[in-house]
Amino acid sequence: MRRKLAAGNWKMNGTAADLSELQALSHMHAAPAVDILICPPATLIHRAKEKVPGGNIQIGGQDCHAANSGAHTGDISAQMLVDAGASAVILGHSERREDHGEQNEDVRAKSIAAMNGGLKAIICVGESLEQREAANTLDIIGGQMSGSIPDQATGENLIVAYEPIWAIGTGKVPTLDEIGQVHDFIRARLERRFGEGVGRSVRLLYGGSVKPSNAAEIFAVSNVDGALVGGASLKADDFSGIIQALEKA
Ligand code: PEP
Repeated sequence: MRRKLAAGNWKMNGTAADLSELQALSHMHAAPAVDILICPPATLIHRAKEKVPGGNIQIGGQDCHAANSGAHTGDISAQMLVDAGASAVILGHSERREDHGEQNEDVRAKSIAAMNGGLKAIICVGESLEQREAANTLDIIGGQMSGSIPDQATGENLIVAYEPIWAIGTGKVPTLDEIGQVHDFIRARLERRFGEGVGRSVRLLYGGSVKPSNAAEIFAVSNVDGALVGGASLKADDFSGIIQALEKA
């Protein structure tokens, strides 16, 4: 049985004042029936963790370096994220792939570091609009999975997020059939590569313009175990609506 997960990606948004949203969310979901994860900017991880001492909300990072330490100005290691209070890290988000030229092999190396450091790696995959229109979606996703997911993946240390790039922050969402097709494909590939036991235990998140108003129908799709949410995770009321939809799914 996979425990459902509502994960919020604050991206490069938020200063200390915004932790009041996290605190409000924590009060609204003191005993959640699903896992809740908030990934604030690295500067807030430690303070965010202190705001949720009950552990009802997990805190995560948005990226990590493949090395544990060293001469990498501006980077953060998996070990540092754990030290600050993180239990998970988003890796290979399309904004990292686009803004920083991250390739599948970079994402794989970072994922190995994250898993070895005791973090859950949320590995993002997703196609561009051009790739979807050229009917290349499944090829792209398959390639990203082979290249980015390390051999040591288990249901404990890996979460896969399907995030069509054209749906991120745009208000556009694939049809429910399209989401189901990709999630079923990801599940089948995981089962083929890692065996049925591991393949079935990995949680699959959908990400891309999830809101309280569309969450319930998305969560009813096969092999959707939760969501990775950008914009709608910044406000406690919005994210709470998504969490409630997931709890009822
Ligand atoms: C994201 O960037 O991970 C994301 C899904 O963003 P949004 O929910 O704002 O589309």
